[in-house]
Amino acid sequence: MSKLVYIAGVGHSGSTLLDIVTGTIPGVFSAGEMTYLPSRMSYRKFPCSCLSALSECRVWSKVVADVSKEVGFDVRQDPLRYRMALLQRQRWKTDLLQDICFTLQRAVFGYAMQRRPLGFIEGVWRRALNERIGNNWRIFDAICETCDVRYVVDSSKHIYRAKLLHSRRPADVYVLLLIRDLRGLAWSSIKRRRDPIRTVRKLVRQYNRILSTVRNMEGASFTPVKYERLCSDPIGERRRIAGFLGLDDPGSAIEIDPTKHHLTGGNPMRMKGRMDIRLDESWKENLTPDLRARVEKIASGLDDGWRELLAETYPE
Ligand SMILES: [Zn+2]
Repeated sequence: MSKLVYIAGVGHSGSTLLDIVTGTIPGVFSAGEMTYLPSRMSYRKFPCSCLSALSECRVWSKVVADVSKEVGFDVRQDPLRYRMALLQRQRWKTDLLQDICFTLQRAVFGYAMQRRPLGFIEGVWRRALNERIGNNWRIFDAICETCDVRYVVDSSKHIYRAKLLHSRRPADVYVLLLIRDLRGLAWSSIKRRRDPIRTVRKLVRQYNRILSTVRNMEGASFTPVKYERLCSDPIGERRRIAGFLGLDDPGSAIEIDPTKHHLTGGNPMRMKGRMDIRLDESWKENLTPDLRARVEKIASGLDDGWRELLAETYPE
């Protein structure tokens, strides 16, 4: 039986890096964003981080062959039939209809996940959700069997995904709550030509939702990971994460080389080969004082629980 290390967080906050760092702990497999595995497999040439096509990677070929035997159809031939995303776009006639339907679906799902007990959601989508939750766990178990590991890292980030996977096997889920300085995220959004104020407002809501959801997951094991600390002290953070998972200290050498792992998706850094980790603090020079003050004001809307959690984890 596998154990899942789930990275919850927001986009552009270092989840691929955390996935790889965690995957350097012996006994842990770094899998990338698992929610997209079937759709990525449906593109024949979509690359695994080992640089083989996903459909030809030795690990994923074996894993997919194993689950195909269990589900009774060839997942390689028809990956989209093997649903792992808990919300999936329906194939409608037009993109607009698809988008409207998906937005509605997401809104109802989010509302139900936040305000109602899980039973309500399961009542509505019981069959679909059960199948998808089962498909995820079947893949995690097959990875552990194939690679002789006990833990699989999934950096899909969505907290509701963690909640539903946890609802099936609560004792097997460990959540890493990845959090990055909102000023760094604001600068990152400017580089992507997004409105930093709108982005930061949205991120504060997302972070608050992550914390309230994980706190409502009964008996959940979770720990925060500060992105800045991960970059400035990857070995120390890895030691702490290993301890959180109940694993031995992996030592003081670390090699970040995504090609030695099999991440299915995530930041393009996963295709770049061996790299050094460095803390990017370019926001300090680039945010104007006015924008920085506005971002800091919005950031004060972060749930106090975050500050308490980070203070407990990183006592100064
Ligand atoms: Zn691979």
